[in-house]
Amino acid sequence: MRPDGENTETPLRFEDLGLSADLLRTVEEEGYEEPTPVQERAIPIVLEGRDVLAAAQTGTGKTAAFTLPILDRLKAHANTSFSPARHPVRCLVLTPTRELAMQVADSVKTYGRHVALRSAVVYGGVPLDPQIKELLAGVEILVATPGRLLDLVGQRAANLAQVEILVLDEADRMLDMGFMPDIRRILDLLISRRQTLLFSATFSDDIKRLAGSILRDPVTIEVARHGTAAENVRQLVYPVDRERKEELLRHLVIEGDWHQVLVFTRTKLAASRLASWLDRHGVASTAIHSDRAQSDRTKALEAFKRGEIRVLVATDVAARGLDIEDLPHVVNFELPWNPEDYVHRIGRTGRAGATGDAVSLVCIDEADLLRGVQRLLQHAIPWEVEEGFEPSPHQQARPLRAPRGAAGAAPVARSRSNGAGRRPARAGGRR
Ligand code: AMP
Repeated sequence: MRPDGENTETPLRFEDLGLSADLLRTVEEEGYEEPTPVQERAIPIVLEGRDVLAAAQTGTGKTAAFTLPILDRLKAHANTSFSPARHPVRCLVLTPTRELAMQVADSVKTYGRHVALRSAVVYGGVPLDPQIKELLAGVEILVATPGRLLDLVGQRAANLAQVEILVLDEADRMLDMGFMPDIRRILDLLISRRQTLLFSATFSDDIKRLAGSILRDPVTIEVARHGTAAENVRQLVYPVDRERKEELLRHLVIEGDWHQVLVFTRTKLAASRLASWLDRHGVASTAIHSDRAQSDRTKALEAFKRGEIRVLVATDVAARGLDIEDLPHVVNFELPWNPEDYVHRIGRTGRAGATGDAVSLVCIDEADLLRGVQRLLQHAIPWEVEEGFEPSPHQQARPLRAPRGAAGAAPVARSRSNGAGRRPARAGGRR
């Protein structure tokens, strides 16, 4: 089974896609039996040198879909010279977050181990000097977050004049995070005769506009329908009173003997509070968000991967790009403002063909957010009341305060006729 769980009638083999023997060897060593849909479509097109606009979410195998053919295209430049001039930046991969940058850079190193091309990753929040040194020695493939890259260009450590291939990974998230001006400045530094690959989880109007302005005659690849959740993820809603969510989460983790649980909150403050509550109540937890130093985030992630930390609490922004394989449990401690984020969140489980559980603890204030998610999914999410955590019939909805510009946020307690005052479980379908 492929990472997205999809099977086709006559699957193509990696050998059919035009990759060179070196790369096919790597693929085999990685144990990939067949290409995923995005790999099947993208690899031959990227090898041809054409521009690509791809809608593919994390977990679809998109990183290999661009990295493998790029390595093949750049192989002609591979050399072992010590001269930095022989190793100009030829491929630039831009990502929204440090975590995604590190993950992509790891993949480049892994897939490129039989090719004499140098790669490096640069992101903010860590000292500049080591990155300057590494870039000055010369690298062919550079993975970067936009702000730090511009700092390095300003320091004359990065020269982008010879970039032949530009990849924008998770472009929708880069736009959401306000990177558009930085991206424009970076584009101004690149030659226009280049190959550009734009990967995005969704094709919003902004993405289409960006694609229209930077891609030349692109091939469009769409592998998962807008707003589709992976089929091998079991989704469940637990209706619960707002002040009992912590207890219910602790109960589910302990009773279910859950390990490696990724929990989402809407805010950094909620993430920190929840992690320390769980920790104080016997469940080893830590929060990961952008206020924490990069070294702390990396340490937390490593401890989580080793199983020393049972629960990792994250905000949507911090979780983007976290590559944790076979993550069995994702919990929405709070539903996101934006229904698309729900799909991203639960895409953290059920990866690489494994099945996963995505559980949402929903209080009455979140009834409208739940409706928004179900509207996007075009189906109701099953729900279950946990014994001992039955929501009180008297709890009144309190309006949620959405941050400015939050998409999909809607106040709940508007009038009785629009469903306010009902238990959110009712919105989840009948059982
Ligand atoms: P990505 O969507 O790039 O984050 O990849 C998701 C996961 O799928 C990664 O852990 C990859 O190692 C894995 N993967 C990528 N391509 C394949 C493949 N063809 N077969 C099996 N696993 C794959």
